[in-house]
Amino acid sequence: MEKRKGLRRILEALADLVWPKGSHCLVCGDPRRASAESGLCPSCEAALMAERVPASACHRCLSNTYHSKGCPFCAAGGLKGIDQAFAPFRYRPNSRQLVISVKFRSNDEAVPYLARWMAQSLWDRDFDLIIPVPLHQKRLKERGVNQAAVLSKAVSALTGIPCADDLLIRVRETRPQAGLDRQKRAGNVRGAFEAVPGGALKGKRVLIVDDVRTTGATASACAKALRDAGCEKVCLLTACCTSGSRGRRFRQSK
Ligand SMILES: [Zn+2]
Ligand SMILES: [Zn+2]
Repeated sequence: MEKRKGLRRILEALADLVWPKGSHCLVCGDPRRASAESGLCPSCEAALMAERVPASACHRCLSNTYHSKGCPFCAAGGLKGIDQAFAPFRYRPNSRQLVISVKFRSNDEAVPYLARWMAQSLWDRDFDLIIPVPLHQKRLKERGVNQAAVLSKAVSALTGIPCADDLLIRVRETRPQAGLDRQKRAGNVRGAFEAVPGGALKGKRVLIVDDVRTTGATASACAKALRDAGCEKVCLLTACCTSGSRGRRFRQSK
């Protein structure tokens, strides 16, 4: 057993010499990363490009549209309080792997990689502030890092839009949104967020940042708190979003 462990260590050391640490594909972990620029091996890069939000998606909420009459999700009042949504990717296996890397800090290169794509998808940059979706204090202590704040800071550095992670707070602990339908999701996060008093948000144009958007219930709850505090424009930037499903249930695997 010990012998085998020793051999493994030698092989790993050799692999590190040939393929230096940090050069593994961000999605599949393959050490023979082909592109130093993207950080992904060619097959993962091709698969990720197939997960980009299509040009045919709703211009406002990025859901799939099914007929020429417009977007059923927007028509049903989806993304309430949000003027415009931005996201480079659908929430699919490869983009999901990148988001997981950010969440659990398993690969720090995933942050600048996703942030570059997020910044690129932001065709309107007329904002005063970037505000990450906050975690509850207790959850933040457990996890150690808020992935939305990490992405916010990286996007802020790329776009020059200042980031403030202390103006919106999660005042109530909520159940995880996964497994809840659209209505229950909205109820779960209703009133969960509050802007700090003091008028710092009055008249501000704010970009909310999160890793994934599914029904948009969390973003809408944040938007309500920001609007109540006087924000005049509220948009949403996420790394991934689901495609929507005609305003009913949203498929996702988070
Ligand atoms: Zn790969
Ligand atoms: Zn729409």
